[in-house]
Amino acid sequence: MRPVITGAISLAIPLVALSDTGRHIVLMRDFPTLGDAIDHVTSDDHVMGDDWSVQIAHEAFGVLKSAFPNISHHRIRILHNPNYFAFTADGHHIFLTRTLLEICASIEMAAFVIAHEIAHHELGHVPAESEGVRGRLKLAMLSLRHRVWPFARARMEIEADQFAIDMCIRAGLSVGECLRIFQILEKRTLDKGGIESAFGSYEFYDTEMSSFERRWKIGLYLLRHANYPIRIRRILAERHARINSTNHDVFLN
Ligand SMILES: [Zn+2]
Repeated sequence: MRPVITGAISLAIPLVALSDTGRHIVLMRDFPTLGDAIDHVTSDDHVMGDDWSVQIAHEAFGVLKSAFPNISHHRIRILHNPNYFAFTADGHHIFLTRTLLEICASIEMAAFVIAHEIAHHELGHVPAESEGVRGRLKLAMLSLRHRVWPFARARMEIEADQFAIDMCIRAGLSVGECLRIFQILEKRTLDKGGIESAFGSYEFYDTEMSSFERRWKIGLYLLRHANYPIRIRRILAERHARINSTNHDVFLN
């Protein structure tokens, strides 16, 4: 059962969170944060105990915590879900699917994914908490900003990638192995026919085009996809990590 996260965020003000089946309709006012409400509505999907996915996440988080003891307050929850995705919510919540950990295939990649989600918290992309009317309003405003200005949300993903790379390096992890997740995601996306999601459109790479033209065309791409293509994220991540990268002159806003 996958919660309709964007719906839940949009509905933060009416104080309702919904799940796919509609079986879990909760009043947000009963929870101190949206993250706590999501944790509740996904309770049927929680992976518990000694499952390998919990252990991998625990080990990867442990490596990061040994370098950054101040991140211990983040709460990681693994969800049974056939799709691979991860997201954060206020209240220091981090949600990962078991399927995502399955494709990570190494502690380094799992640590990078977890570090990316921690980065959203540490960089203030997610409010620390949404308690009270003021907190809920802040959450709704953030959600609205992401919808109205697609560059803002997409830019946050790049920032989180770079923050996560720095964390992984400081934690003594092989950054090359951490970033292999982008190659895997790229292939998975292509396998599902998502050529645009994997590579983007030519405006990202075409240096002949004016920056004005590129900007609005990339804006249209982001309105459709809500994120930069995986290849662009990979190039920027590899460039940030100063490792062997395909030499594209990519364009961002
Ligand atoms: Zn992210």
